[in-house]
Amino acid sequence: MTHDKGLVVVLSGFSGAGKGTIMKHLLEAHPGDYNLSISATTRGIRPGEENGREYFFKTREEFDSMIANNELLEYATFNGNSYGTPRAYVEELINNKKDVLLEIEINGALQVKEMFPDALLLFTTPPSALELKNRLVGRGTETEEVINQRLAISCKESQGMGKYDYLIINDNLDKAVDQVHNIIQSEHYRTSRNTISIAQVQEELKMFERSN
Ligand code: ADP
Ligand code: 5GP
Repeated sequence: MTHDKGLVVVLSGFSGAGKGTIMKHLLEAHPGDYNLSISATTRGIRPGEENGREYFFKTREEFDSMIANNELLEYATFNGNSYGTPRAYVEELINNKKDVLLEIEINGALQVKEMFPDALLLFTTPPSALELKNRLVGRGTETEEVINQRLAISCKESQGMGKYDYLIINDNLDKAVDQVHNIIQSEHYRTSRNTISIAQVQEELKMFERSN
């Protein structure tokens, strides 16, 4: 079957929910199936991160010039830093009928939905608020102050969860990864995403059409 085009899949979720971990495992479990967009950000690099792998780390001036040159598909501010999706990579993939994954926060997700109304919006959460805090603390990449700021942002973000198409509870990691994969794969078979195959079968069946 020829699907009409590649899917734009957005995965959002509270800071510490496990978005990055889910994406990493999804890409490893299904090599070649998915392409992850790497965002640009002005936030500082964390220990263990690499420029060009987790993010393209930019100065404020560099980020602003990306905006001015229309190089970002969407961008938003999160806890004082800017984050944005480079446009060229996403456009190239969808033009080549490839799925592209965006791991972005809610304001960016809603901008993407406006631009691509058939984008698939997934939201992930840990099973409880306490578990969210434990994961953020356990990750050990932020100060207590930043952790508290991020938890307060989560409270606000939770008001927008209903705008997403699917909710993934990231309790057991392998299950969450399977759920994301299964949802994306099922989504390919929606009739509205297969108008080319539908038209083709309709056309072929005309040879059996009777005039009476
Ligand atoms: P995010 O990208 O959403 O901010 P991370 O992927 O960095 O979150 O995950 C936050 C922390 O939670 C990491 O230390 C990660 O190893 C851990 N984690 C992710 N998923 C699970 C899970 N299902 N169970 C337990 N810990 C998890
Ligand atoms: P972190 O600093 O934890 O890596 O990311 C903070 C938040 O920014 C997360 O919710 C993450 O999904 C979001 N984010 C990362 N890249 C982008 C992006 O390109 N655009 C938007 N809008 N949000 C992003």
